[in-house]
Amino acid sequence: MKKPASFTIAMAAAEALPYAKSGGLADVVGALPAQLARLGHRVLLFVPYYRETRARFPHLPRAHQPLDLPFPGHDVRVEILRHEPAPGVSVLLVREDAAFDRPYLYGSPDGDYWDNAGRYALFCRAVLACLQALGEHPDVIHAHDWQTALLPLYLRQRPDLAGPLAGTASLLTVHNLAYQGVFPASALAYTGIPATLFNPQGIEYYGKVNLLKGGLLYADAISTVSPHYSEEIRTPAFGEGLDGVLRERAAVVHGILNGVDPDQWNPETDPFLPANYSAAAPAGKIRCKEALLQAFGLEGGPAVPLFATISRLADQKGFDLIAAAMPALAARGLRYCILGSGDRHYQDLFTALARALPGRIAVRIGYDNALAHLIEAGADCYLMPSRFEPCGLNQMYSLRYGTIPIVRAVGGLIDTVEHFDPARGTGTGFVFRDYDVTGLLWGVDQALAAFDRRQDWARLRANAMAADFSWEASARRYIELYRSLASHGARRV
Ligand code: ADP
Repeated sequence: MKKPASFTIAMAAAEALPYAKSGGLADVVGALPAQLARLGHRVLLFVPYYRETRARFPHLPRAHQPLDLPFPGHDVRVEILRHEPAPGVSVLLVREDAAFDRPYLYGSPDGDYWDNAGRYALFCRAVLACLQALGEHPDVIHAHDWQTALLPLYLRQRPDLAGPLAGTASLLTVHNLAYQGVFPASALAYTGIPATLFNPQGIEYYGKVNLLKGGLLYADAISTVSPHYSEEIRTPAFGEGLDGVLRERAAVVHGILNGVDPDQWNPETDPFLPANYSAAAPAGKIRCKEALLQAFGLEGGPAVPLFATISRLADQKGFDLIAAAMPALAARGLRYCILGSGDRHYQDLFTALARALPGRIAVRIGYDNALAHLIEAGADCYLMPSRFEPCGLNQMYSLRYGTIPIVRAVGGLIDTVEHFDPARGTGTGFVFRDYDVTGLLWGVDQALAAFDRRQDWARLRANAMAADFSWEASARRYIELYRSLASHGARRV
């Protein structure tokens, strides 16, 4: 039998574990390259060298001599560092301290950095320059989100920057359409976007420059992180103003579900837990619940249902709904803990709610990976009433940890959680439809009723823990997409 072709994929993203993380993008880009490599392909992953990256990897060797990137009126010198985390995966870290040696990735809780367009244009320019300096000719360049959406545009519209890479096939994965990288028209000059593209058919968006739109127009293929979301984003309700562009490009839009990285999220081996457990030997989960109740200062024992949420505190995640439902939730006798950071408005709101309901509702403001693991293991139910959800990872982690998700029927949540049917014993969680308090409480009440029926709960938990969201299946779908891009050649515009 003929051996299937092996590809070289150059991937670029603004965050990836273990180098830097603010959200799900880092989990995905942290896991996908190793999976692709395991299936026989070679990945060159580009990420910025942030302050938090340097704290974790202070002594990385250089991949190449420093590169001088010409910008209008001056050159910018970047260093390229190298890390080899797994066979077949080379990580190339772009170091330019003025741009990336900062306390946050994109901005503080009070606002984004003013020069984000320039920072990520610099990053994309460095990716192209480095590939050329190393003599690399990847089969596909795979960009993620607005920060790297300039890559498909440069490959088509800036042959001077792309050099021999011009025409290389590109894939842009959209992890969240709500973040588009929209900047004043003055960004044209320092992002190197040709002025001729500044019109509504091009990268202009109501008088501004929209970097994600540029990527959507010039990538050879577009993917997003779940099948449902890939359809939703072509409608005005979920398209965030770009549904027209996505409808025009519908033929090349794909939905590939994210996976769960078993090296990070596995209750049998998780080092952050006081006790490990599995579907066959679940006793450790009770110890995790005790530890979680204690960590949050919540009252009660194993018989009291414990709900949880871990999230960026952002409108998308349904926190207005949770806040409105809080008195009704507390009245049901459940316990609820939230771990989150983000919008100051929500930080203050939930801190006040927790103060009003001590011992029953608890909030931890901050980013805490170890606590996130304990929550996934120790809670009985995971509440995720998102307004929209491209894929969502925590509901998948919850399933794996036997923590029953209660989710809204939207985006990737539809693709990953099946509503429980006690009569047939099928389903993995509870799915409600309407974005209102009645909808949310309906889902919660369904869960509480099942929690009181021991056999149903055991069935539900077994179903949840058996759900398979392995990365391998997702990686194979990406490879199919790379294969079609590589074999059809890049689309010429
Ligand atoms: P999004 O990418 O929209 O933030 P996802 O559900 O796709 O949402 O991914 C969120 C990821 O970030 C998960 O790995 C989750 O555990 C993690 N996370 C979010 N907020 C926190 C927090 N405050 N502390 C620890 N981990 C967090």
